[in-house]
Amino acid sequence: MKRKTALITGINGQDGSYLAKFLLNKKFHVYGLSRRTSNYKFQRLKYLKIFDKISIIYGDITEYENITKIIKKIKPNFIFNFAAQSFVDYSFDNKFTTYEINTKAVYNILETIKNFSKKTKFYQASTSEMYGNSNRKFQNENTEFNPVSPYAISKVSAHDLVRIYRKSFGIFASSGILFNHESPLRGPEFVTKKIISNLVKIKLKNGKPVHLGNLYSFRDWGYVEDYMDAIFKIVNHKKADDFVVGTGSSTSIIDFFKIACAEIGFNPIFKNNGPNKFCYDKQTEKKLMIINRNLFREQELHYLKADISKIKRVLKWKPKTNLKNLIKKMVSYEIEKIKNPQDEYFY
Ligand code: NAP
Repeated sequence: MKRKTALITGINGQDGSYLAKFLLNKKFHVYGLSRRTSNYKFQRLKYLKIFDKISIIYGDITEYENITKIIKKIKPNFIFNFAAQSFVDYSFDNKFTTYEINTKAVYNILETIKNFSKKTKFYQASTSEMYGNSNRKFQNENTEFNPVSPYAISKVSAHDLVRIYRKSFGIFASSGILFNHESPLRGPEFVTKKIISNLVKIKLKNGKPVHLGNLYSFRDWGYVEDYMDAIFKIVNHKKADDFVVGTGSSTSIIDFFKIACAEIGFNPIFKNNGPNKFCYDKQTEKKLMIINRNLFREQELHYLKADISKIKRVLKWKPKTNLKNLIKKMVSYEIEKIKNPQDEYFY
């Protein structure tokens, strides 16, 4: 039987790497789109030991002609659009780049599918950031969007495009509204990775205290491999649709920090309030965390919690990994990384 084919944009990213691993296990032929940089490291793919199993195609998602050429040539069964300027803070100073990559490029792909590859099923990586401050106890497929960052605005527009192409042109185009999902291979600027990698360095070497912004934002954090399973179910559902993917439980940054401390063996003591708050370890008196005013967002997003009843009911999906186990995985990875400094594939 002919192998199914998938094109993953953003193959170098956290989700692209894990989805590639997931699809290779299902015997897919995986094509990965990667933009040119001065240094092709593909560390995540190499760490997962899948780099040589993927057909890498070089290209920038914002180049309409090139994207069209690629899709026309391989006519994949599935396109997973993960490529994005995905860091919210960066989007405030780089609004136009964020829009080009996160919105305009989605037009490029959908237009190409419509004109040249109508059987290709499309998946868009939508995000819980689209909800902004919704003032709801939880968010689901019917919750209104109220974006509070250029990143979120770009993703709302892309989300709307997917819906329009699905309804107006009959394209199989689905979106997963994914709440935060983490892994050992999360980008270094994201708060979960920052907390864990700094704390492990303090424990095992002479690391510096982690700088944090608003400790009282709540997020619904899940584990990436569970979410790749959800995405696979979404694109294999009989009809294209939108689904919220999350855990259904929400934790503040300060509580995430405390759980990570406990896992690593610290006993955190907090001093002061507001911007002068800091934290040290009771036994060693090492400073673990300080507040950095520059890390507060222009508009904070206070509270996210997924209502996953639709995906549970329709696709029979639910997450398998709880927050404690997710943190355990991230901590073991950082410990291994420090113990094996010669291993170039650690991210
Ligand atoms: P990520 O690690 O930042 O990966 C994004 C990827 O997009 C990177 O590999 C990047 O390439 C690539 N990219 C950026 N601009 C590009 C361009 N112009 N042309 C081609 N490739 C480009 O993000 P992630 O965490 O894997 O997230 C995957 C997707 O899910 C993103 O769309 C994100 O917005 C969305 N999402 C993520 C979460 C989450 O919690 N992780 C939650 C909801 C939605 P380089 O490697 O060259 O930089």
